Amino acid sequence: MHAGARSRMIRVTFLGTAASRPTVGRNVSGLAVQREGDLMLFDCGEGTQRQMMRFGTGFGLGAIFVTHLHADHFLGIIGLLRTMALQGREDLLDIYGPMGSEEVLLQTVHLGVERIPFPVRVRELGPRDRVPFGDYEVAPFPVRHGTPALGYTLKESPRLGRFDVQRARALGVPDGPMFGRLHRGEPVEVDGRVVHPHEVVGSPRPGRLVAYTGDTRPSPDIVEAVRGADLLIHEATFAEEEGARAFETFHSTARGAALLAREAGVTRLVLTHVSARYTEDPGPLAAEARQVFSPTVVAHDGMVIEIGYRPDEVIPKESGRPERSGEVHE
Ligand SMILES: [Zn+2]
Ligand SMILES: [Zn+2]
Repeated sequence: MHAGARSRMIRVTFLGTAASRPTVGRNVSGLAVQREGDLMLFDCGEGTQRQMMRFGTGFGLGAIFVTHLHADHFLGIIGLLRTMALQGREDLLDIYGPMGSEEVLLQTVHLGVERIPFPVRVRELGPRDRVPFGDYEVAPFPVRHGTPALGYTLKESPRLGRFDVQRARALGVPDGPMFGRLHRGEPVEVDGRVVHPHEVVGSPRPGRLVAYTGDTRPSPDIVEAVRGADLLIHEATFAEEEGARAFETFHSTARGAALLAREAGVTRLVLTHVSARYTEDPGPLAAEARQVFSPTVVAHDGMVIEIGYRPDEVIPKESGRPERSGEVHE
């Protein structure tokens, strides 16, 4: 794959994949998403900054999206902001969280005696809000976790249809600006004849959709929000043998997440937020989920998944297992 194609990938790096507390091999929740020079975090548990160093995401962070205010999802903001201050950051940082989170997030930003020398904006989001980023947006969706909580999708705008250069030339359209006009949907006139966009441009191509649930029980709202996603990152704290516990604590089982993925028709499912019980061997979670939905893997810290434009494959890059943390992850 050439460099141009690589840079157009959406790159997802799992910084922390443990539920509630870190284990030797897994840090608490944190997910880095990179797209054409933008870097954002979804959740930022304690120690996330060190995972960012370890797995080479860089610190050119534009936004942090917090799913909810359980400690394992946001305490890392405190240290991360101070490190970015020491690095001389001057750029604005946006921090988003669910309704009711602003006060705690502001306390998190300003905790201690150091002043954060760069601007930080904290904003609460409701499930219908949209955070636009040019040709894509981050859209929250409601989840069920017994406390105000959101999942998030990163959703690209549809791309223009494919432009058929051969066909355009055959119709007498000269190479140059008329190609662009046609591609953008304007008819052009060539030798007294009008060439219409539909003659040379295919139908718009869907953008990519990546979804992250944060902590939640499976719910119909999630199915709706993640329908057709190229990648669904769903929590699976427990296996089905602890189904009652999962229900009581507003978490999911691997099977529950897989049923949801199947119903929503996603391309690929990654399970995360793994209970300490499965931290060494998440095999039972994977096996349980694959009985329902085969394109499932259980995340580990340092796992990178790159998502190309359809019909490109989603390419799992099994790099950087914790015990080989010194590796360079390309
Ligand atoms: Zn959690
Ligand atoms: Zn939680």
